[in-house]
Amino acid sequence: MAQQKAALSFDLIAKCSVSRARASTMTLPHGPVELPMFMPVATQASLKGLTPEQLESLGCRLCLNNTYHLGLKPGQATLDAVGGAHRLQSWNHNILTDSGGFQMVSLLKLAKITEEGVRFLSPHDGSPMLLTPEHSMSLQNSIGSDIMMQLDDVIATTSPDKERIVEAMHRSVRWLDRCIEAHKYPEKQNLFCIIQGGLDLELRRECVKEMVKRDTPGIAIGGLSGGEEKAKYCAVVRTCTEMLPDMKPRYVMGVGYPEDLVVSVALGADMFDCVWPTRTARFGNAVTSRGTLNLRHASYAADFSPVDEDCDCPCCRSKENGGLGVTKAYIHHLTGKETAGAHILTMHNVYYLLDLMRNARQAIIADAYPSFVKEFFGKIYKYDTAEYPIWAVDALKTVGIDLTEA
Ligand SMILES: [Zn+2]
Repeated sequence: MAQQKAALSFDLIAKCSVSRARASTMTLPHGPVELPMFMPVATQASLKGLTPEQLESLGCRLCLNNTYHLGLKPGQATLDAVGGAHRLQSWNHNILTDSGGFQMVSLLKLAKITEEGVRFLSPHDGSPMLLTPEHSMSLQNSIGSDIMMQLDDVIATTSPDKERIVEAMHRSVRWLDRCIEAHKYPEKQNLFCIIQGGLDLELRRECVKEMVKRDTPGIAIGGLSGGEEKAKYCAVVRTCTEMLPDMKPRYVMGVGYPEDLVVSVALGADMFDCVWPTRTARFGNAVTSRGTLNLRHASYAADFSPVDEDCDCPCCRSKENGGLGVTKAYIHHLTGKETAGAHILTMHNVYYLLDLMRNARQAIIADAYPSFVKEFFGKIYKYDTAEYPIWAVDALKTVGIDLTEA
């Protein structure tokens, strides 16, 4: 198979001597990004409540846009006229776009998948429409994203229909070939393949072999985070990373819980995205180094400590140190009444996850990832190993990290 062009360079900086964790730098058309990393999701070319400047100030250099939403509004003609999504949202850093397929299947009940593509009814006027691999590439070429995702045939991991899962895996490989064929700018936009195969490890292996042959600049593991058991999720990630080439970035789609990130990094994954940290902020939930706190709870009404004492985000940082000095009590007071509370928490939550991955990277470079992982779980569960989630303990053991040993 012909070698694919790549618009990125990938430098592997360090590997953990115990687990499969890696630290790397990926240089994309809009600058370098450090892996492992969390990518916040800016659905409509905006992160709910945050301006591009705020997102930039948190250290984000790669965010996600949804092709489905941008394709509907402002639409392809406007994207072409303005010169792509970077210009549309005044974001001079990197953008990753999904294919649009997952959004359709999950948002539109009437979506129907055929070999040609995803058929659905326009949410605007109900007219029949079709998203093909070619159309997805054309839209993502108009968006101008630094990383584009192939259109894949997504099916819930929890589906009992084995035959359908096999079909979806093979179709995803065929659709990747059509995407490669249709991609107009491989010299300036990177197309990532997506490994499918449900929870069947043999199918996943078969898919990895086929996808790796196509030599795309990066590789995603898809179809997870759909309510499957965490132990099964970990088995899939571990099975895939075992076979993946060292010198390409590995993106596990739809993952955003801090514990999942820390474990998945140990299993050899580099990139993650999820709407959860921003969505949950709107319900008053703060993601912190001591676990997720629901600041709507009455117990926070007179708690004048920062949202997270160990956080250096603009909200948690004290006034003396140039921050906003926001307290739990203040968020408690605002939440549900004022959108400002949601904005502040969104900022904190995004910063927390970006920073968690920055710290993980530092630990990998210092070859201290196992102790980083122990400290991370220790803080959340007050070092009570009996409270640690069994799936995490078991998954980490498979890569040489024993959470229960001091
Ligand atoms: Zn903070």
